[in-house]
Amino acid sequence: MRRLAFGLIATVLLASGAFANAIREEDLRPHIKVLASDEFEGREPGTPGEAKTTAYISEQWQKAGLTPAATDGSWFDPVQLVRRGPGTAEFKFFARGEKLRFADDEIILIGKEAKYARNKLPVWFAGYGINADGKVAGDVAGKAVLMLADRPAFGAEEMKTIRARREALIAAGAEAVIAIAGEQAEYPLIRRQLLSRPINLVSREKRAALEGVIGARFAVAMVTAAGGDWDKLRKSADAADFAGTALGVTGDFDISTDVNAFVSNNVIGKLPGKKPGSGAVLYMGHWDHLGICRPEGDEDRICNGAVDNASGIAVMTEVARGLSKSKHDRDIYFLATTAEESGLYGAYAFAEKPAVPLDSIVIALNIDTIAIGPAGAKVAIIGRGTTQFDGVIEKVAKKAKRKVEKSNDANAFIRRQDGWALAQKGVPALMVGGAFADQALLEAFLSDDYHGPDDELTDATELGGAAEDATLHIALGKHFASTRKQPVEKPADNTGG
Ligand SMILES: [Zn+2]
Repeated sequence: MRRLAFGLIATVLLASGAFANAIREEDLRPHIKVLASDEFEGREPGTPGEAKTTAYISEQWQKAGLTPAATDGSWFDPVQLVRRGPGTAEFKFFARGEKLRFADDEIILIGKEAKYARNKLPVWFAGYGINADGKVAGDVAGKAVLMLADRPAFGAEEMKTIRARREALIAAGAEAVIAIAGEQAEYPLIRRQLLSRPINLVSREKRAALEGVIGARFAVAMVTAAGGDWDKLRKSADAADFAGTALGVTGDFDISTDVNAFVSNNVIGKLPGKKPGSGAVLYMGHWDHLGICRPEGDEDRICNGAVDNASGIAVMTEVARGLSKSKHDRDIYFLATTAEESGLYGAYAFAEKPAVPLDSIVIALNIDTIAIGPAGAKVAIIGRGTTQFDGVIEKVAKKAKRKVEKSNDANAFIRRQDGWALAQKGVPALMVGGAFADQALLEAFLSDDYHGPDDELTDATELGGAAEDATLHIALGKHFASTRKQPVEKPADNTGG
């Protein structure tokens, strides 16, 4: 009885074509195997690993039926990036004409340009950079500003980050911004971060002529040598009206910096629609990962990024193949972004110079870190409540026999994924799938293999949920690319908050 019933259902479903487009684990695995192989060296932007990655994606997308869709008609849209690392630093600090001597060498200074030389730069202590009233702490223009790196107890959440406070000082004209390491932002931590030569997007970079970090002991020694009281000074920074103070110290700097500007690439392909001008559907996912991420001598030095995000590229590729089997009203774009790991930079670059007008994008579906759990997970929506589409996604998911998670828990990740860069420009941008529905499985990944050499493809890598999500994404693509099923051409304004 059971067997017969099963056989009957299977026959009916196959005949009706309900599963004709189902993506299987074995469709995804070969892509991840290549993209997360040691040969691709962790897919770091600007390395030979990038060239192999973007070549692989464009070849696979061509085979899947896409046509190139970058702004110049190729597969590749250039993204201008820059990375900096410390070179040699010579500096002297003076108080009342006397050269200050420190036993301590906890200092890293990095210039915006390759060479930076200035003498007699006045040193200003700006507390947290801003005070509890949200104002920049004093007239910092043209000065070398010392700023506490630890998060202030006061202020709006978005102004508490070291980045936001640094940028406030730069906007106010600070010549140099030097963070003072503390208890949360410890010196070794910031040091490691700066020595990793972080990548920036040239067009979005807000940078002082000189930036760096000093250890707390260095700051104490400088203030004390200049006749000040460090504990008092530090405390004064908590005041709502703290307006900063000159330390009576000047600095001479002769700094060389290893500046490497380079071009990386977003990969863009499309399935042209039957009704030009009726809008577009955009799938996106980042191809980059962290590259060779461990020091020489370590046994495994490569962060392969199998889950993060070779799995997303594999899913996008198979979704492209699935959707290319039929014609759709709207154009369907596929965007593989660079430099997500550094700050969503490829996505921001696309938003600045989009290969398809942003206001024509009906929906952007980001696919990231998708190989987390087995099939059967609920469908979570990152960005739930920020667009008009929660209801229709639920309908499409139900048809695909998926349950939808009703909580907004997954929104905790909304700023940490490429869709955020587009949401900032009013594009309805969501992540839809099971990986972010099961918080326990996700946490297990984030606290274990995530961003380390163990994010590799093994026989144990679970692709059941990813395959199921890929199938769902084909259904979503068919829905949103249909002007009949989804007549919205100009979606309501959505600024992502
Ligand atoms: Zn990542």
